[in-house]
Amino acid sequence: MSIFKDSPFEILLTQEQIHTRIQELGAQITQDYQDKDLVLVGVLRGSYLFLADLSRHIDLPLIVDFLAVSSYGTRTQSSGVVRLTSDLSTSIVDKDVLIVEDIIDTGLTMNYLVENLQTRKPRSIRVCSLLDKPARNIQPVTVHYLGFEIPDKFVVGYGLDYMGRYRNLPYIGFLSHPPVED
Ligand code: 5GP
Repeated sequence: MSIFKDSPFEILLTQEQIHTRIQELGAQITQDYQDKDLVLVGVLRGSYLFLADLSRHIDLPLIVDFLAVSSYGTRTQSSGVVRLTSDLSTSIVDKDVLIVEDIIDTGLTMNYLVENLQTRKPRSIRVCSLLDKPARNIQPVTVHYLGFEIPDKFVVGYGLDYMGRYRNLPYIGFLSHPPVED
């Protein structure tokens, strides 16, 4: 069986749609960060493909760093508790930080991250997220660069997982029959 051909997911965003949007975001970021000292901060693990593709469409001598958070309690519902499980390896003092995230769901993770990174005295902090599910937002987040607004569905692929799997799907799909929670 091939996960690319026979996956149990319906396609929400195709590979082409994702790549076209990333080119646009990259061009916008390139323009906005001229004469700035840009650091892309990828939020692991979900943003790894997005960051890899986005960074190649930003025509600037940027720095890439990563951190990791844990936020999921059950398979598809946020626990509401955000924890930094791995930190940046470089200083962001006086840098222009752009946090690169896969998806804004409740907004709790991004609020936690912005607050945390703000204490480290960067020159600026902005947020770039591939996806946003406005229907699920609990805490408002300012997303300066957004790929797509999506409906309230649990999505997988292009970095996003279901129980650790399917991150390598080249498109974004959703389960037509969402799993029953434990
Ligand atoms: P928030 O703190 O905004 O509720 O959640 C952010 C994190 O929850 C994301 O970085 C992502 O890891 C996870 N998440 C939220 N919605 C989805 C979804 O639809 N699919 C997957 N795979 N992860 C999600």
